[in-house]
Amino acid sequence: MNEPDQLAKRFESITSKIGDATLVAVTKYSDLREISLAYDIGHRDFGENRVGDLETKANGLQLDERDDVRWHFIGHLQTNKVAKLVKIPNLYAIHSIDSYKLLQELLRRESDMLSPVRIYFQVNTSGEAEKGGFEDYESLKKSVSHFYKASPSAIIFEGLMTMGTYRTDDRDGEARRCFQTLKDYAERLKVDFKLDKICLSMGMSEDFDIALEEGADVVRVGSLLFK
Ligand SMILES: *Cc1c(COP(=O)(O)O)cnc(C)c1O
Repeated sequence: MNEPDQLAKRFESITSKIGDATLVAVTKYSDLREISLAYDIGHRDFGENRVGDLETKANGLQLDERDDVRWHFIGHLQTNKVAKLVKIPNLYAIHSIDSYKLLQELLRRESDMLSPVRIYFQVNTSGEAEKGGFEDYESLKKSVSHFYKASPSAIIFEGLMTMGTYRTDDRDGEARRCFQTLKDYAERLKVDFKLDKICLSMGMSEDFDIALEEGADVVRVGSLLFK
């Protein structure tokens, strides 16, 4: 089997399981050639976790006139990289707004945005020190509240994002607990801010099936597709 067929088969094995959810293909292990193959078999949503790498890959695809991609930034974002990030072509969403300070910086950069950007607030549901994200509901609520007060026109509050626990003997059980916590936060925000829909970005190669069972709208899968 040739390489495009193999890649198509890997995509199909995931998309056949996810129903209406969106598959963000995480490209941190892939080069431009491999991303272009995925584009050519019809995939459009890609995720990257470093600003510099995203810039290189997004510019590369654009030069190739593969210009209708949706780039999702999913990694830890330093405030001093926000200005650079929002100018990257085809930036569609940022999944990792993990602090009030970062939100403020993003709001400050609104006028630099090339097109509207969707944001997800990241929640540290596992409580692990190396993970970013809001640690409790009240701090998340404060940032959401600030967002609505600022009422930016080019920034859209799309949802919440999380990752399951890494260091555990019970990966599946812990992942489920983390995803349920995220869902619970979303339900509370819906009530507190009278919202209809909050998208849940959760689930990676190891646990996307559990995330789907818990109501994921977006799964972010890298190694199953590209390694
Ligand atoms: C790397 C990464 C993923 C994808 O992980 P895989 O295990 O390779 O599927 C998803 N989300 C984030 C935030 C990541 O950094």
